[in-house]
Amino acid sequence: MERAAQKLLSERRVVKVHVRELGLTLYLAYGAKFDKLYLLIPGRFCSCFSFFFSAFLRRTASQCVHLAALSLAKDAQLPAVEVSLEDFRNKIFPLIFRGLLS
Ligand SMILES: [Zn+2]
Repeated sequence: MERAAQKLLSERRVVKVHVRELGLTLYLAYGAKFDKLYLLIPGRFCSCFSFFFSAFLRRTASQCVHLAALSLAKDAQLPAVEVSLEDFRNKIFPLIFRGLLS
């Protein structure tokens, strides 16, 4: 798990997105093809299937690889972007929604 988590970080798939109008910072992880995003609550929740199935339903793991990567990373090392609420709604939210459907 740690190796996979390190790989995720080296591929810069775990990112921090600050939504300007909301004054809110979200942690997100890209899927392998960068075509979907998972929403993370550090140490608690990830919107990926693996978290839902293994951690939440079956309790065979305490976290998914995205949460593991986030807990390994130093906050300042994560790629960070700042977006407007409109950009969040149009570009980022659809990718989070796509992450929920797969
Ligand atoms: Zn996950």
